[in-house]
Amino acid sequence: MRRRTPDRRLAVGARTGRRLLAAVVSTATAIALSTFTAPTAIAADPSSNAPLVAVVAGQSSGYLQIAADGGVFAFGGALFQGSAGGGTLNKPVVAAARTKSGQGYWLAAADGGVFSFGDAQFYGSMGGKSLNKPIVGAAATSSGAGYWLVASDGGIFAFGDARFYGSMGGKPLNAPVVGMSATPSGAGYWLVASDGGIFAFGDARFYGSMGGKPLNKPIVGIATTPSGSGYWLVASDGGIFAFGDAKFFGSMGGQPLSAPVVGIASTVSGAGYWLIGSDGGMFAFGNATFSGRAKYTPPATPNPTTSTSRDLAKSILTTANIQLQSVHASGVSDSANARQNVIDTSNGLAAKRSSYGGAPGGTIALNSRMLQALLTIGQKQRIRVSEISGGAHSGPSSQHYRGTAIDIDSSAVSFASIVSQCKSLGAGYAAVESTHAHCDWR
Ligand SMILES: [Zn+2]
Repeated sequence: MRRRTPDRRLAVGARTGRRLLAAVVSTATAIALSTFTAPTAIAADPSSNAPLVAVVAGQSSGYLQIAADGGVFAFGGALFQGSAGGGTLNKPVVAAARTKSGQGYWLAAADGGVFSFGDAQFYGSMGGKSLNKPIVGAAATSSGAGYWLVASDGGIFAFGDARFYGSMGGKPLNAPVVGMSATPSGAGYWLVASDGGIFAFGDARFYGSMGGKPLNKPIVGIATTPSGSGYWLVASDGGIFAFGDAKFFGSMGGQPLSAPVVGIASTVSGAGYWLIGSDGGMFAFGNATFSGRAKYTPPATPNPTTSTSRDLAKSILTTANIQLQSVHASGVSDSANARQNVIDTSNGLAAKRSSYGGAPGGTIALNSRMLQALLTIGQKQRIRVSEISGGAHSGPSSQHYRGTAIDIDSSAVSFASIVSQCKSLGAGYAAVESTHAHCDWR
């Protein structure tokens, strides 16, 4: 059996919504050794083509990592029975549940599509039917002969021997539902909303919630204890909130994460849990053990700011003749001022735009021809730049918002001279305006 050391620090955090008693973990629970035969060679983490969205505990040990494209990655004693990965899904997979035997599982997609594998039977889906809101969670009945889907508006859809015990569909919610979990009897379920609100139906009892309490990050998942007398909620920052007989075994709250936590699964005994990050990172607490992970690497976002622009910005910042205003001509102060635009660009970042007076907000990479001209002009005479990509300008399609324009509101020479210099440096448009010379490289 291959064992690997977690590549993440497993910290015992102290963040919880309730006072913590010292965790006394019984060692009486024997965890069956996995009979999974791993290849002798140590392989690299399997790569996932899509973000991970859920973790499902194996029947006795291990876990399944579920990806948005329907990919399934089995670790430890969890059994791989097939996946929807590689196919073309209409909508991403958002949740999963396994059968009682652990020999099968269902994947649920946002459009209500259900994919069954192994001994999991297909009992129906909402695929192809119109939904008011996307599906966000799923849970199986205790027999494994049915399942529920839940939508973000709290609507419940029951299939097979899953019965309908009530829903939040059509009722006003303070925050969208993000997940569900069934009771051990299968005669009830809890829904959890992103604000930590809990809705209990059937024989599911309410043991407390985070609804109405401040959260650093939204709740993204719920797991119940084997007794059904408690549950854990997990937030996207890895914070854990334990209720009822659910014990706190640690969290990632307050720890830096390379990707948000997206799900939680309890171990079979309930004396531990795993958290999964969207990049496949696994955090094991209590008697949960790390058995491997898939790795999802988001496509690199191309840096919109070229190295040329970055170097020009650095030169502009060290040119004493060039004064860059740190407050807009309007008097508004924000981080889209001319000086910050150039500083951001010198750091390889896109420049910010203002969000007032019709300005669009967001960012834009500054045009390198404009930066080159600004540097050239500033090397010849003293100038003061009042605006680049920030400030509010006439019309929604101002060249300032496109990162090609500068306004010079003070110079050692006339504005007419500045305009003429801009034109000789390739400006597409340059003119003396009432309070400044405007030049752009459209
Ligand atoms: Zn202008």
